[in-house]
Amino acid sequence: TQILHIVGGGMAGSEAAWQAANLGVQVVIHEMRPKVETFAHQTGNLAEMVCSNSFRSDDDEQNAVGLLHWEMRAANGLIMAAAEKHRLPAGGALAVDREAFAEFVTQEINAHPNISIEYGEVNEIPSEGTWVFATGPLTSPKLGEAIAKETGADRLAFFDAIAPIIYRDSINMDVAWMQSRYDKGETEEEQKAYLNCPMTKDQYEAFIDALLAADKTEFHEGETAGYFDGCLPIEVMAERGRETLRFGPMKPVGLTNTHDPETKAYAVVQLRRDNKLGTLYNIVGFQTKMKYGAQAEVFKMIPGLEEAKFARLGGIHRNTFLNSPTLLDDQMRLKSKPNVRFSGQVTGVEGYVESAAMGLLAGRLAAHEILGTPITPPNGNTAMGALIHHITGGAEAKTFQPMNVNFGLFPPVEGLKGGRRGRKDRYKAYTDRAKETFNQWLEGQS
Ligand code: FAD
Repeated sequence: TQILHIVGGGMAGSEAAWQAANLGVQVVIHEMRPKVETFAHQTGNLAEMVCSNSFRSDDDEQNAVGLLHWEMRAANGLIMAAAEKHRLPAGGALAVDREAFAEFVTQEINAHPNISIEYGEVNEIPSEGTWVFATGPLTSPKLGEAIAKETGADRLAFFDAIAPIIYRDSINMDVAWMQSRYDKGETEEEQKAYLNCPMTKDQYEAFIDALLAADKTEFHEGETAGYFDGCLPIEVMAERGRETLRFGPMKPVGLTNTHDPETKAYAVVQLRRDNKLGTLYNIVGFQTKMKYGAQAEVFKMIPGLEEAKFARLGGIHRNTFLNSPTLLDDQMRLKSKPNVRFSGQVTGVEGYVESAAMGLLAGRLAAHEILGTPITPPNGNTAMGALIHHITGGAEAKTFQPMNVNFGLFPPVEGLKGGRRGRKDRYKAYTDRAKETFNQWLEGQS
């Protein structure tokens, strides 16, 4: 019988193994710890949580992460079962006792008759056999080299540089306008590809003051970064000189405010479309290590963004990830070596929950392939489907950065109005639609 090899026994690898093994497939997990360590992991356990002990919101009606919890539970997920068993009181969040959680996952995997674990580092991308690589943000350097050789060095990143992403419908278009710098582009769509927010001199000065004063996060111990040119955090740019941003990402040249063509803006903040649906926009060049609370405050000072809703805030971390939109097919298979799947954070999703969810999918897809009963992922109306569609095609490949699950990734539900009450109804409609679709997907496999 054909064996499924899974490299990495983290959130994604453990869940992938569990799903495939439950379908009757023989699984070998290859885990390098404790023989080879990372700077963040502390134990030799599977599914170790390297930082916070939270799986975030457990609200499956109003929150996209909560919906992902729901979908994983519906699919008999091991990570959710372990979290439930070792849950700690945390209001609406799903927080866990991290050690008991990881020990439980390790025990369940060890006790499964279809799974064995081989401890050791895998350093190459095999041409034969069925493989899932779920080696995470701290993929070992040797394997990183092998991946870069397979994909091309420009398709593998070792740090993320995440600019905040905002829901398009929360931006005030009475202030902002659409225009590419110097109207560049062949088509009208390209000439109006950017969303622009103008600043006066006073607004700019106040913004720089706020950037300089904001609380910043430090790199983790061992996570020596060294910034690379071209993706300095904006607050570091501001530290280098009060005018640096005005001559960098906030330069006002080549832009005319359609609401007020006579007045030249002193500085302009540009936002660029982040997904094909056009529901999400990122702030160009605004990667940052400001703390989350500070980011929300500072970015809302930008004219047009006073009421902005953030799909995700910015950050810079040690994070090995693929340019999945160009490298992976819609089944998470490497286009150049379809016997190899990638899954988890290394595919450019972000977070424990998202990584585990992609592991769940990879495990099922690979197992069904081995069993000769291939399946397709759930469609984009589900949280899992929205995520996999985003990383394997929906995201803009050129500016691809890791993504959390959020409702901006879902195709809009028609016929629902905006506004506060409207948003609650809309999220409920998204989650209702997702649950129904996900159940149908599960039924289709039995
Ligand atoms: P991991 O859980 O990291 O699992 C990958 C596994 O692969 C590891 O066990 C590793 O030892 C193994 N491995 C790597 N290379 C090889 C190899 N060559 N051969 C064999 N095995 C290998 N997410 C959150 O949701 N909340 C947080 O607070 C948070 N904080 C973070 C802090 C830090 C410092 C880092 C680096 C990440 C953080 N993340 C956080 C992201 C988090 O790591 C991921 O969300 C999640 O762990 C990813 O799951 P994964 O299965 O893809 O990777």
